[in-house]
Amino acid sequence: MGLDGGTIISRNDVLRGQCWDLNKADDSRSTRGGAVRGTFKRRKLDAATSKVTKWTTCALSGQPLTAPVVACFLGRVYSKQSVLEWLLAKAGTFADDEALHRHMNVLRESGDAFDHITSMKDVFPLAYEPPAPTEGAAVATAADGSADPTLPAPFTCPITEARCDRHPFVALVPCGHVFAERAIREAGKDGTCPSCSTAFAEEDVVPLLPSEEQEERLRELLPGRRKQAKRRRKGGREQQQQGEQQQQQQGEERQQGEERQQQQGEQRQQQPQQEEQ
Ligand SMILES: [Zn+2]
Repeated sequence: MGLDGGTIISRNDVLRGQCWDLNKADDSRSTRGGAVRGTFKRRKLDAATSKVTKWTTCALSGQPLTAPVVACFLGRVYSKQSVLEWLLAKAGTFADDEALHRHMNVLRESGDAFDHITSMKDVFPLAYEPPAPTEGAAVATAADGSADPTLPAPFTCPITEARCDRHPFVALVPCGHVFAERAIREAGKDGTCPSCSTAFAEEDVVPLLPSEEQEERLRELLPGRRKQAKRRRKGGREQQQQGEQQQQQQGEERQQGEERQQQQGEQRQQQPQQEEQ
């Protein structure tokens, strides 16, 4: 096993590993080159299993999802703890040897898949409680789609009661509430969260565990989101500055007022003197 001391995985090793996996999955060619069969068969995890797994697994660590949960703007879900650890590791800080190994494993498995997370501003908190992990929780539902009795019930939409493993779900960035997409299309028409009435904009609706096309679209939105976040931060600072300026102005006005009073007082003092003369 690698990573148990001494072995340092390079990016080349990662790529070579991925190539090997791809070649193995491709039945149309032998690994020595040359065609074996004319067909290209793709290995794919069955959709339902993969969906349930994603809803209960941290996308970064591959470990069971634990609260508090956050999501990135590509709609992946994470244990907040893993994201914190990931950011520390990226900065070269590791809590312990295990953290270093976990980081190397993620790099090996995912390549640059998490490069879009550069700070805690690239994720937002989700109001989603992962079901308590049970024995074999990562194995999901039975092949025929019936519920596996050993698994906790999957998360359901508070409005439509749709199951998260069978229907598309979205999260609202401002409040983190999670709904079936349909619920937001219908109950969220007025632009406020059906649970807590927090206002949200169109781009605040992030599809969770999106389809490939949806993910492409989310990826296109990423640069804009960064600018938006920056503008929001800058806006906050400007408001603060304006506030300080106002306070200063008020202070000056107070001072002017005091000076006026003083002048009036002096004039009053001068008047009796004039009368005496
Ligand atoms: Zn809400």
